Amino acid sequence: MSSSDPLLSSDSTWAFIAIGSELLKGVCEDENGPWLARFLQSKGHRLIHIGLCEDNEKAILKALDEALARADIVVLSGGLGPTPDDLTEGVLSPYVEGPTEHLPNPVGKAYGLLGRREGRTLAALPGVPVEFRKMFEAELYPRLFPKGTSSDSSRLTVKTWGIGEEKLWNENPRLWDDLAAFGSVSSLPWALGVDIGVDLRGSLEERKEKEQNILDILAKGHLKDRIWQVGELDLSHYVFKLLEKRSLSLGFCESCTGGLASHHLTDIPGSSKVFKGSVVCYANDIKSRVLGLSEKILKDHGAVSEETARALAQGGQKLLGVDYCLAYTGIAGPGGGSPEKPVGTVGIALQGPRDDVSGLFHFSGSRTGLKEKFWAQGLLMLARTLQG
Ligand code: ATP
Ligand code: MG
Repeated sequence: MSSSDPLLSSDSTWAFIAIGSELLKGVCEDENGPWLARFLQSKGHRLIHIGLCEDNEKAILKALDEALARADIVVLSGGLGPTPDDLTEGVLSPYVEGPTEHLPNPVGKAYGLLGRREGRTLAALPGVPVEFRKMFEAELYPRLFPKGTSSDSSRLTVKTWGIGEEKLWNENPRLWDDLAAFGSVSSLPWALGVDIGVDLRGSLEERKEKEQNILDILAKGHLKDRIWQVGELDLSHYVFKLLEKRSLSLGFCESCTGGLASHHLTDIPGSSKVFKGSVVCYANDIKSRVLGLSEKILKDHGAVSEETARALAQGGQKLLGVDYCLAYTGIAGPGGGSPEKPVGTVGIALQGPRDDVSGLFHFSGSRTGLKEKFWAQGLLMLARTLQG
């Protein structure tokens, strides 16, 4: 099944250009390109270029010429409002052949534009991310692909943890080629592991068979125990689903993560079904007074220890009245480390209804990088406990 537009198909290539001098001055980061990349990927399309462009006519025209030379569909964002610095419409209208079609904006004032040039499709949408997303999904994409795309392509994602990218591919020297026999392979490192993707083509049955073959290959290799998910969910979402399915509740005691775990979980719409609350217990005094951490544990093992983490998780579980409580206490640096407990040391404990796990871990990285690693390590402990 292809689009009703004879010029477009699921094989058409896409390019994206974010217009806005603020993007090139580092005032704000482009959010539309990465979002579009994920959206198109999920529909089996190929985005081949993401660019940034200054807000001036010459730069926009040059970016358009370059994008049109390589892609069948070019999407722009930004510069569509009514102010004098909004130049996109003035540049695009004479550039396209024939009139531009106006796309309504259900969430804002600036409308979108759609046109053609040399058999290619050109569209411009507002820069504000919520407007860009809403208009792309509700207005532009359905116009270009009213019947959706052919469902002959999909991606298999296998998420691993506890291994860096270099080590993963070095320790499994034949894996890349073995996987590439089924489709184009990608390797995307994250805080604690690597997401391996394989783009599959063929009928549904053919793709199912390829997926099974890939999983069989991975099950035989060293990676077997390092896979935490076959699927696309991010870690918070994945844990949320596991808890939701079993009607289990969660809370955190966050020292070094300072609320990060709660923040990630509450990014999920409907998180209240699972997440009840947290204690951000930065000072030892709060750990003792609010969560009942004993003087003795603090004195014998220190604030950053597996024992302290366990006491916090137990105290938090009672105080918050949750099924699972995850506690973090560590040193995110850059100061505060010692030879016995260097920066990057973290005690993490999970207290469940009948089960508990804990550990003292060591990571490296910047302060923000370490906080993310601590958070992820705790969530993986929870995920693996729930997976049995
Ligand atoms: P309007 O001016 O009506 O809001 P517009 O299409 O003209 O819409 P811009 O003026 O280019 O949009 O950008 C408005 C604001 O939207 C920017 O100041 C910036 O905060 C945000 N923005 C624009 N482009 C992007 C982008 N690619 N990624 C993230 N934010 C963006
Ligand atoms: Mg504007």
